[in-house]
Amino acid sequence: MWSKRDEVDYALQRRNSLQRVFGRARSLTPSDICDADPMLIRSALHHGELTKTHCPVCETNRLVNLNYVFGDQLGQYSGRIKSEAELVEMQTEYGDFKVCVVEVCTDCGWNHMIRSYRLGDGIKRRPPRRQPTVEDIYG
Ligand SMILES: [Zn+2]
Repeated sequence: MWSKRDEVDYALQRRNSLQRVFGRARSLTPSDICDADPMLIRSALHHGELTKTHCPVCETNRLVNLNYVFGDQLGQYSGRIKSEAELVEMQTEYGDFKVCVVEVCTDCGWNHMIRSYRLGDGIKRRPPRRQPTVEDIYG
């Protein structure tokens, strides 16, 4: 993605978590680190984009990535999940926002933020006008 910047890779933290289960010390059990809550699993099943990586804990090939977007310019859409294709479009629609990529295994519940980065064309914009949501109507 052309506007990608400030990328942070969390591979080291990921390795450390796994090391605590599979390393010599074994200070944690898989259930300690496979703690995805039901909402996260549901999001992963509906919006997750399948990766080529196998789950580091249970080794299934159902490891998915979720892209969470955050930023003032996103208004009420901050905190939502976006597909790779949506992110490509959003680069030219917003000046600056952060993407946090979380990998989730829908089988065992392993989840870890694997990287974050910023996107956007650098042009400052006001957040979009708030649209009523289902929660507003039925909340
Ligand atoms: Zn797994």
